[in-house]
Amino acid sequence: MLPPIDSNDILGHRAGMSESSEEAGLLDFWERNICPHCGNSIPEGKRVGGGEKRLGGFCSLDCLARYYQLEFAQRAAHVAEIFRRHQDS
Ligand SMILES: [Zn+2]
Repeated sequence: MLPPIDSNDILGHRAGMSESSEEAGLLDFWERNICPHCGNSIPEGKRVGGGEKRLGGFCSLDCLARYYQLEFAQRAAHVAEIFRRHQDS
């Protein structure tokens, strides 16, 4: 079973904001099977997440939990960092 994700809580932090870099990154990582927390590729069928692309897909429950322990601003920075790492390589 997946831990419950309160999307209202998550998304409420960006009330009034336009599409964030965090959300754009999560969607891109989802398409590419990359974990937004550790940056590793996700084995087929192993993705875990809240069931919505915009909430991201992770390689493990551990990554999912750690990611959502971050503050909103930290998550955006973290996504940007992983994003850069994959663009450079
Ligand atoms: Zn991971």
